[in-house]
Amino acid sequence: MIIGNIGLDSSARVAFQSHAHTDHFVSGEVIFATKATKFLSHLRKGGFYKEVEFGKTFYIDDLKAKLYPAGHMLGSAGIKLWLENGTLFYTGDTKWFKLRTAEKSRFPRADVLIIEATFGVPHFTFPSPREAEKKLIAFVEEALGKGKRPTLYVNQMGKAQEVMKILEIHGYTVKASREMVKVARIYSKFGIAFGNIAEDGEVLLRSNRPPKANPWELTVSGFGQLKLSNHGDFWELMRIVEKVKPEKIFTVYGYAREFARILKGLGYDAHPLERDSHLNL
Ligand SMILES: [Zn+2]
Repeated sequence: MIIGNIGLDSSARVAFQSHAHTDHFVSGEVIFATKATKFLSHLRKGGFYKEVEFGKTFYIDDLKAKLYPAGHMLGSAGIKLWLENGTLFYTGDTKWFKLRTAEKSRFPRADVLIIEATFGVPHFTFPSPREAEKKLIAFVEEALGKGKRPTLYVNQMGKAQEVMKILEIHGYTVKASREMVKVARIYSKFGIAFGNIAEDGEVLLRSNRPPKANPWELTVSGFGQLKLSNHGDFWELMRIVEKVKPEKIFTVYGYAREFARILKGLGYDAHPLERDSHLNL
């Protein structure tokens, strides 16, 4: 979205990038982001990033702004902007519940909310991260108990490190891809170290699922078999809406149209938004 002249996860002369997943990469003369997002993005792209800390007031052009942890992965942030006619909060990709390797999310009050809707229909109801963790460990124990090597399919950035951390806490070693290890090295610069990465790790982490399913393989994703998601499910998104108490809502990504329709039915002034649309507020 482009608000006035500022890109929010959209390329513009001055842009904000919420986190380091490639589908949120932006270009611009100056890209505002957290330090972790800058370091993680630089694994794959260049660009001049202006580091901003959570909770500190800063200015984009002459607009007051502040970042809040989004809980989606290390460094992920939502942004609050003080516009002429009120305040706006953009969530980026976000999660209400705390993951082990992401900062605990926080949501401010704002007049206008732009919220992600990746899982914006009630059909998406996820177990809590701790419940999902128990299922993950049960799966790993069962496979190892039968002499099989469990394989987990995970996104290389964010999910892989979350799963590595869970396995470390439960005493398992992992064999991860080179990319996952590179990302993990950056996590360790921010205090999240992994002592369980090994060439002959007990659990195999892979990023691309082969077409044929095997009983000792599991996809860890909100869309997969084990619903340990770094996005909020429908109910988490609703909690965020209630917390922000907006007068107007725009929904983006995934089920944006459906989520806006549901919110409208609940009495909210809600509209779906295209990823690169311009908003003049
Ligand atoms: Zn993301």
